[in-house]
Parts: sequence; structure tokens; C-alpha cells
Amino acid sequence: MRYHSFLVKYAEIGTKGKNRYIFEDALIRQIKLHLKKVEGEFAVVKEQGRIYVNAKSDYDYDEVIGALKKVFGIVGICPMTQLADEGYEKLRKEIVKFIDEEYPDKHFTFKVRAKRTNKHYPVTSDEINADVGYDILTAFPETKVDVRNPEVMIHIEVRQQINVYSKVIKGAGGMPIGTNGKAMLLLSGGIDSPVAGYMIAKRGVMIEAVYFHAPPYTSERAKQKVVDLAKIVAGYAGPIKLHVINFTEIQLYIYEQCPHDELTIIMRRYMMRIAERIAEETGCIGLITGESIGQVASQTMFSLQVTNEVCNLPVYRPVIGFDKQEIIDLSEEIGTFETSILPYEDCCTIFVAKHPVTKPNINVIKKSETKLSEKIDEMVETAIRTREEIICH
Ligand code: ATP
Ligand code: MG
Repeated sequence: MRYHSFLVKYAEIGTKGKNRYIFEDALIRQIKLHLKKVEGEFAVVKEQGRIYVNAKSDYDYDEVIGALKKVFGIVGICPMTQLADEGYEKLRKEIVKFIDEEYPDKHFTFKVRAKRTNKHYPVTSDEINADVGYDILTAFPETKVDVRNPEVMIHIEVRQQINVYSKVIKGAGGMPIGTNGKAMLLLSGGIDSPVAGYMIAKRGVMIEAVYFHAPPYTSERAKQKVVDLAKIVAGYAGPIKLHVINFTEIQLYIYEQCPHDELTIIMRRYMMRIAERIAEETGCIGLITGESIGQVASQTMFSLQVTNEVCNLPVYRPVIGFDKQEIIDLSEEIGTFETSILPYEDCCTIFVAKHPVTKPNINVIKKSETKLSEKIDEMVETAIRTREEIICH
């Protein structure tokens, strides 16, 4: 075991004043949750504006870093050595040993940055900087000091104990899950909605999801793909309850009763209505979609206005201003892309008209929907009541 401890750096949540502990505690809960997936025992401890992950057993380094990189709220992970105060001379020796092990190749420039929180420590920060710098230059003559732009920044934090680290691995950023309520993600098998879910979860929002399934027009494999995507997002966001709605009857009914160039928009309105109903039932206070202006006919500003009209809850569309390529880049980064591009139909592609309206008129659409009045309410009730719930984690 190379490192006994990791220092967890968090930026945004450090600024929340009196409520800071709420954020720190949420972050600790999330760290513990993610570490459960990793072999080994760990203690997560909070101490004066610092969170440490201390290893209590052997562990796999890459696995632990992989798990911590998925925790929202962490900006940096620093593998470190934590030394007891056993005298200054001993400390200097230990630091040289640590750097020796950390960098087998000694051709690097460095700077020492000591910070003394424990003002009783007999040596000042400046003295530590000078002494440790001298020690390293003496022990490893290939190294050089560069105070402006060092390749290696050696951090020495003198507290009750002494933290020494020089590597900062980038974390996911954002806010810890559980600090910001819960929202319902409309999750399809496409590229955009998993990214949208990830982005909102990153702001500390807990996620549930709804998928509109249309068997036999959409296959079991298409549904499995959505489950797989939910699992990948859950890798960051924590367990996601996925509500699978059987949408076939409703879709066929719209197909029978309404003009075909309005199918997509009317279907989208029913998706939003149903998603909102389930959201209200489950305590979600917002909806999330992967819509982006102008991407397809159903996502022009006019179509979005008509879709939005049926919702009372706020609808969060975090990729609204992204180009497709920007969404793809993010989906590759978070690991959903490969699954999203698997070729199984999602329900919209079956019923799309050749020339869908791009400038739907709200009154025209509402009028078309009156043709559904005989059966639609009952169909919606049935769809909601008979939904399947799958916990994805
Ligand atoms: P995505 O890549 O997320 O599938 P898309 O570019 O295919 O998006 P649309 O098919 O117009 O766009 O859907 C817009 C949004 O509506 C999706 O991002 C998703 O949030 C929601 N949505 C579409 N189809 C479904 C479905 N079958 N189940 C749940 N939500 C859906
Ligand atoms: Mg889609």
C-alpha cells in the first residue's frame, strides 16, 4: 500500500458559510457510498475544513481513485503521506523519502509550499520551505527549484499531524448528491438525455428516470440499453429508480386519431404529462430532458414552447445550447457514448412522420388532442399504474 491517506479537496462547497457542514456531511456520505464498491476498508474523516480518506486495509490504488473521481463535489484527490509530529529532523527525512518514492525519475523542477496551521510548531513555513528545498536538492542533484512554474509542487501542511503531498488528481467537481432535491429525467436510449441527467446530478440533484417503452415496436434490447445507461449515470449520481412506462397503446391511439405530421409533438406532450405525474408522486420537483435547440424538428423553439406548455414543474434542459459534438464529447467523457450508439430503436423513431411540423401552433395541437378525449385519460392512468420500476445502480 503506497498511500495510507488521500486528501479530498472540495471548492464550491467550501464557500457555503454556515451551511457548510451540510455540504461536507453530504460529501462524506457520497464518498462512503462510492467506496463501498471498492475492495478494502476505509475511514472517511472530517477535520478543520479538510476531508481525508484513510485506508484501513490493503486496497487497489486505481480502483480507489476511479471511485473517488465519480463523486460530485470533489475537485481534487491528493494521495498523501500523513506524518505524526516526531520532531523536525525526522520530518525532513520522511519528506525526502516520500519524494524519492513518488518520483523515480528525478529530472523535475519543484517548489516547496509549507502551510503551518499549528502555530505551536517550532519552525515557520518559510524555514520549512528553505530547509526541505535544500534537502531535496542535496539528495537528488538532478532536481531544480522553480518558484514560478514548478513541475512538482510539494505541499506540506503542518497541523496536529503533518500532511505531505504533491499530486492532485482532478475530481468530477460539482456538488454532492443530496444537497439539492430530486428531479425526474426523461431517459431515452439516445446520446443526449444521459448527458443531461449527468449534468443536473452534478449540481447535487438526486435523479429518478422515466423511459417510454413501446413493445413490440421497441425491443427488449432497447429497454436493456436504457437500463444500462441509467446504471452508468448512477455510477456518479447514486442509485436511480427507473420507471418504465408501456407507451404502445397511447402511441397507437395518437397515430390513429391525429394528423401524422403532429405525431411527434403530441407524443412528446404526453411524455411530459406522464413524467410530471410520476414526478409529483415520487417527490421530484423538476423534469430533465436532453433537448437542444434546433437539433431535430421536435426541438425548434416553437416545438419546445408547445411541449413545455403541458408542464407545471420546471423543465431543466442542460444541453439546450450545446452543439451535437459538444454533447458527444461529454458523453464520451462520462462513458455513456458507446452504449448510446448501439443501434436499437427508441420509441420515437418508429412513429415519426416524414415531414413533422417544425412550427406547431399551440391551438392547432390542442384541437388535435381533443380527438383523443374518449380514451386518453384512462390510457394515461393505466400506463402510470402498470409501470415497471427498476432500481439501477
Ligand atoms: P436523446 O439523445 O436523449 O434520445 P434525441 O436527440 O433523440 O434525444 P428526442 O427524441 O427529440 O431527442 O427527445 C428529446 C428528449 O425527450 C430526450 O432527450 C429525452 O429526454 C426525451 N425522450 C425522448 N424519447 C424518450 C423515451 N422513449 N423515453 C423517455 N424520454 C424520452
Ligand atoms: Mg432519442
